[in-house]
Amino acid sequence: MTTNSTIEKGSARGGPLPAAALLRSVPDRNCPLCPRLADFREAARAREPQWFNSPVPSFGDSDARLLIVGLAPGLQGANRTGRPFTGDYAGDLLYATLLEYGFAKGHYQARPDDGLTLVDCRISNAVRCVPPQNKPLPAEINICRQFLIATIETMPNLRAIVALGRVAHESTLKALGLRAAAAPFAHGAVHQAGATRFYDSYHCSRYNTNTRVLTPQMFRSVFEKVRAELGK
Ligand code: SF4
Repeated sequence: MTTNSTIEKGSARGGPLPAAALLRSVPDRNCPLCPRLADFREAARAREPQWFNSPVPSFGDSDARLLIVGLAPGLQGANRTGRPFTGDYAGDLLYATLLEYGFAKGHYQARPDDGLTLVDCRISNAVRCVPPQNKPLPAEINICRQFLIATIETMPNLRAIVALGRVAHESTLKALGLRAAAAPFAHGAVHQAGATRFYDSYHCSRYNTNTRVLTPQMFRSVFEKVRAELGK
C-alpha cells in the first residue's frame, strides 16, 4: 500500500543547519525533560550501576540513507547495553534481518562491542530513555521528539524511514511535519514523504512475534521493499 503525503513547510527536514542539529540530536546524560523517566533512570542506576541507564544514542552513521525508528530502549536491552535493540529479543530479529538485506555486517552477539556495524543504515528511538513497562506517556513522546527531529536533520542523504510500531510511526510523522490522517499506520504500508519513503512495520518485540502478530517473513518483507527501493 502506498499513500501520498506532503511535508508541510517548517518540517524537520527544512530546519536549521545539520551542525546545529547534531548538537541537539544527543540529549544530556541526565536529561531532566521527562521527570517520570528521569526518576526511573535514577532508580535503575542505583539498582544496576553497571548498566548504561541513560538516553540511548542513535546507532549508525548520519550519512546513511535508511533510518529505522523504534519505540524506546528496553529495560534489559538498550538501557542495559547502551546500543539500540541490543541485548533483548527485538534485536535478534532486527539485526538478523538487517544482516540478511545488507544493512549490517559482522555478527550480532547482543553486545555493543560485538563488532557489528550498520551499512547505509541508522537506528534511533522515538523516546530515548527507558519507560516503565515499555510504555512512554504521550507527553514524553512529544517532548523527546526534538531529538528525533534533530536526528533526521543530520541525515542529508535520507531516502527511507522504517517506523517500528504505531508510536514510532506517529512520532516520526510529526517530526517530518506530516499530517497523521494522510499516512495511517498499517503493517507493510508505504507512504511518500517528499523525497523520503516511509515504511510501516509492526514492532519486532517478543510479544508481537510470540503472538504471531509479526512473523519473521512479515518483517523481512518490509526490508525487502526498502532494499528494492534503495538498490544494492
Ligand atoms: S525521554 Fe528524551 S526528553 Fe525525556 S528525559 Fe529522556 S532524553 Fe530527555
